[in-house]
Parts: sequence; structure tokens; C-alpha cells
Amino acid sequence: MVTAQRAHLTCSCISIHCRTRYPRAARPPSCLSRIRVFCSASIRVAPRAVAPCGIASRHAEDAPRIDPNYLSTDKDIAEVIQGSRLIRRIMQTEALRSITVKETLPGPQVETDADMLSYFRENSGSIYHLCGSCAMGADPATSVVDKHLKVHGIDGLRVVDASIFPNITSGNINAATMMVAERGASLILRDSG
Ligand SMILES: Cc1cc2nc3c(=O)[nH]c(=O)nc-3n(C[C@H](O)[C@H](O)[C@H](O)COP(=O)(O)OP(=O)(O)OC[C@H]3O[C@@H](n4cnc5c(N)ncnc54)[C@H](O)[C@@H]3O)c2cc1C
Repeated sequence: MVTAQRAHLTCSCISIHCRTRYPRAARPPSCLSRIRVFCSASIRVAPRAVAPCGIASRHAEDAPRIDPNYLSTDKDIAEVIQGSRLIRRIMQTEALRSITVKETLPGPQVETDADMLSYFRENSGSIYHLCGSCAMGADPATSVVDKHLKVHGIDGLRVVDASIFPNITSGNINAATMMVAERGASLILRDSG
């Protein structure tokens, strides 16, 4: 069985100090009017890293062992650095420079790829899109369920949730999970006659 999980990789914030507050006419009547910093983040939506999953004990109630393995491939590392640099470039455009003062985090001292990666590692987190630990596929050697969501080689057992994604979507996964649920429900109804 395939025991690997994927998750959208982490975002890391670059904070920018703004030159102006809200224009007086547009100012909201709350503490928002005092906020003078905004944050821009990049997200690695197609991570190459896969997370090995394992059984943690003999007890079915115990959570499995999952090592997220974030930033473990050269491609993931290269692309989070590129994403961070792209945000900086966008912030340097004339339109944004006219309303901002300076980058507050990570700040100009973080310049090299190694420093940028280190900042990303220390300031990033999962965006909770785990999927793929029971991937769908035709080959029992590389997948867990078939195209009817039935577990290979076991009668009367289906998996119907985000774990059957053969790969991760390039965006939030809830809508795709609901589509799996709709399809699973119709397959179950069909089989029940
Ligand atoms: C904090 C957070 C924010 C998110 N934000 C977004 C978002 O903005 N947009 C988006 O598209 N996606 C978002 N997601 C992702 C999305 O919500 C999930 O990927 C999706 O809900 C997965 O659906 P699922 O059915 O696979 O699992 P779940 O929704 O986790 O459902 C699993 C169900 O199984 C039940 N269960 C667990 N163990 C057992 C057991 N032993 N016996 C019986 N039942 C059991 C649980 O109680 C639960 O109801 C977010 C996820 C998190 C955690």
C-alpha cells in the first residue's frame, strides 16, 4: 500500500510598513485604522515532498506517524525562495513603493538564498491541506483504492475522503473533497441497488 501524504507547503510572511494610514474618508471605525503594516505571503501549492505515513501502534485509535517532510526536495526549496523573491519584487513596484516605507520582516539583512530559506523554514507553517495517504490508482502496488474508491483486494471497503486524491490540487482542497464525497455517495447508492 502507498503510505505517503502531501500537503500544501507553508507560507511565510514578508511584512511591509505602510507610509499612510487609510485615507480619512475610507477609514474604518475600528482599530484597523491604526494598522500600518501589511503582510504578503507565498504558498508552495505543488510540493514535490511526500510525507511517509506509518502505523504508530497496535491500537486503531492511535494516530498514525506522519512526517510532513516539508522543504525536503531541491525543487520545493528553489520555489519557496523564488516565491519570496517575487513578493519582494512586487513590493518594489512604483505603485507599492509610493505607499510603503520599508520591509520590516525579514528585512534587508536577509538577502542570500540561504538566509531567505532559513527565514522561510523558521516562519512557515502548513495550510492544512493534507491528502493522498490512500491514493486512487489502477495499480495495487502504487495505490490504495481503485477508481470506484474500493480498497484493492478487500471486498466491501471504500475510502471516501481527501486521502484518495492521487495528487494534490493547486488550491484549497475542500471543494475537491466534496466532489469525491458526491461521487462516492452515488457509487455506494448504485451498488446498493
Ligand atoms: C484549520 C483548517 C482550515 C482549512 N481551511 C480550508 C479552506 O479555507 N478551504 C478549503 O478548501 N479547505 C480548507 N481546509 C481543508 C479541508 O477542510 C479538509 O481538507 C477537508 O475537510 C478534508 O475532508 P475529509 O472528509 O477528507 O476529512 P475531515 O473533514 O477531516 O473529515 C474526517 C471525519 O472523520 C471523522 N472521524 C475521524 N476518525 C474517525 C473514526 N475513527 N471513526 C469515525 N469517524 C471518524 C472526523 O470526526 C471527521 O468528521 C482546512 C483544514 C483545516 C484543518
